[in-house]
Amino acid sequence: MPTITIDTHSGFCFGVVRAIAEAERQLASPGETLYCLGEIVHNTEEVQRLEKSGLQFIDMERFKQLRDAKVLIRAHGEPPSTYRIAEENHIRLIDATCPIVLKLQQRIKDGFEQMQAKGGQVLIFGKAGHAEVIGLNGQTGNRALVVGSLQEVKKLSFSIPTLLYSQTTMDAGQYAEIARYIAVECEKNQVEFRSVDSICKSMSQRASQLKEFALGQDAIVFVSGKQSSNGKYLYSICQEYNAHTFFVSRADELQREDFLGPSENGETSGGKGENGGSSGPTRERFAKIGVCGATSTPMWLMEEVAQRIKQFSSCI
Ligand code: SF4
Repeated sequence: MPTITIDTHSGFCFGVVRAIAEAERQLASPGETLYCLGEIVHNTEEVQRLEKSGLQFIDMERFKQLRDAKVLIRAHGEPPSTYRIAEENHIRLIDATCPIVLKLQQRIKDGFEQMQAKGGQVLIFGKAGHAEVIGLNGQTGNRALVVGSLQEVKKLSFSIPTLLYSQTTMDAGQYAEIARYIAVECEKNQVEFRSVDSICKSMSQRASQLKEFALGQDAIVFVSGKQSSNGKYLYSICQEYNAHTFFVSRADELQREDFLGPSENGETSGGKGENGGSSGPTRERFAKIGVCGATSTPMWLMEEVAQRIKQFSSCI
């Protein structure tokens, strides 16, 4: 039987855990319907689990049509316009914005006002259209420049004072590169430059923690929604440091054959018959299997995956 270890650093960040706990607390008291503006987390399985408990996910169009309703704001936060609509339409907001995001929104609001007074500009390193970025840029009346890469930054002019922030989930290395480039450009033009590293520590440490975890295992099963950008990024790290990395979104996507090695007489299992169809007993391919996931992967899903691997092993 292989040793199966679930990475303790994987799974929801503190902000998402807090938002889901708030949703569950609200759902526990029956009565009013609880709506959630946007997906609470980018994971289909977790969204479906909460839907079964009664949570209704809505988009901005539906939100604008609601009256006298109760709506949860997820960890990503919202721009001021959402709060205005809620007030006009008598919508009671259950605000589960992550406190770190909330603080960053305030910093960007203050920083933008300071830059306005100096005739300067504010840049946000982030993904255009991402919910958190919409909330952050909303603090400036959408007047900050959202940049997603150094290439985009290189197209801009830095002849006026510049203040740089980041979406909380961006890559720390890329942020540092962008900050260095702008610092040099502003120096050339003799204008002020300030960089506020606003990348969440729970995110920036995740990559190095995952690298250590992947190196310590014979195989990795990475669990994530296929659409999660954080999932794609963290999966690529696992692949880089462990050649036997498997990607699944659900436990039933796992193939028993992936965990079987050659039989004792040297034949490889084809997954047919009782022991994979070979004439000798099949062997486990890996002694240590690590289960990990994205920041949007629920712990219960990683536990289900670990359980399925154990079931495969007990059949060998
Ligand atoms: S700021 Fe950090 S803890 Fe908060 S939601 Fe973003 S990643 Fe999660």
